[in-house]
Amino acid sequence: MTVTAQDGTDHGAAALEPGATIGILGGGQLGRMLALAAARLGMRCHIYCPDPQSPAFDVAAARTVAAYDDREALTAFAADCDVVTYEFENVPALTVDTLSPLVPARPGRRPLAVCQDRLEEKRLLEGLGIGSAPWRKIDSLDGLRAGVADLGGPCVLKTRRLGYDGKGQARLKSTGDADRAWEAIAGAPAILEAFVPFSREVSVVCARGVAGDFAAYDVTENHHEAGILRVSRVPAGISEAGAAVAVDIARRIAEALGHVGVMAVEMFLLDDDSGERLLVNELAPRVHNSGHWTIEACPASQFEAHIRAIAGWPVPSTARIGDATMTNLIGDEALDWQALAAEPGAALHLYGKHAIRPGRKMGHVTRVRPFGA
Ligand code: AMP
Repeated sequence: MTVTAQDGTDHGAAALEPGATIGILGGGQLGRMLALAAARLGMRCHIYCPDPQSPAFDVAAARTVAAYDDREALTAFAADCDVVTYEFENVPALTVDTLSPLVPARPGRRPLAVCQDRLEEKRLLEGLGIGSAPWRKIDSLDGLRAGVADLGGPCVLKTRRLGYDGKGQARLKSTGDADRAWEAIAGAPAILEAFVPFSREVSVVCARGVAGDFAAYDVTENHHEAGILRVSRVPAGISEAGAAVAVDIARRIAEALGHVGVMAVEMFLLDDDSGERLLVNELAPRVHNSGHWTIEACPASQFEAHIRAIAGWPVPSTARIGDATMTNLIGDEALDWQALAAEPGAALHLYGKHAIRPGRKMGHVTRVRPFGA
């Protein structure tokens, strides 16, 4: 059976069988946890990453150390893989274009192209009638000044491309901050967003299969520090109706993109006199840090759901077995591993990174407890 997604991508033939090889571009902790999940299903992983010290190499059957634009290495990689996926969204278009005629690449080109560019994300959301922070496209310092005056009040300037963990962003209180903010992002093409006075940040991690089947994990509440995710909690502080709206937003986005695999939608929850309202902040066409709690709290984690979906299997149940809190271990917090390893009920994950750096995600710990405890 060949299934063609809405974006026209040929998503290939029958479901892969155990023993198949999954190719993963990117060798960080997400690639590592994807490879571990694939191993559980009897599949082997081939990791492709330019960094010879990639954490994912330690748990994979095969590795390629090469640049993402090395056509020869990509061709050899494709020949070894039954399907290829990504652990990050900033995969160069050339990489996808080289791989996709040779091997099914899931998700396809469109989810990557849209999620690489905040302007494309905004246009997609507008087209779907899904709310996000008011915004302006910014290409010059004059445009920035006009944008701040136009949106009024505090704003956030974000580079269109290559921003993560709060990088590539500058906050402005008024037009007087425009010079500094423009310099901070080095004059890169950007969008300007009105600052959203949210009461909580939440995310939906969901999976969509080759046949269009869809399932979402319960809405997660996320707390950031200095732009980096610190803690994710489930259940989130959101009403049942609000959670249903959040999941519906994620489903519509996944369908519009013809997405196959796991994706995450980060949202702002506004909760004021007029009730709850959700605005989409950002899309990630991949497994996501706010879904790490699913490893212990669900029969099939987000990593397994992604592997199953890209392998052409139906997406698994996303039900959970309890409430959970996931805390990232950032920088030298990972040095506390002995105390965490000794804590009953704490599930410790260390990513095997060779060097500790401030702000670097070194591991995480998940604590699962009975519902409502
Ligand atoms: P991002 O990289 O876009 O996910 O932004 C990182 C973090 O900055 C978010 O998780 C929010 O905590 C904060 N942030 C980003 N954009 C806005 C906004 N428009 N209003 C308020 N906070 C924001």
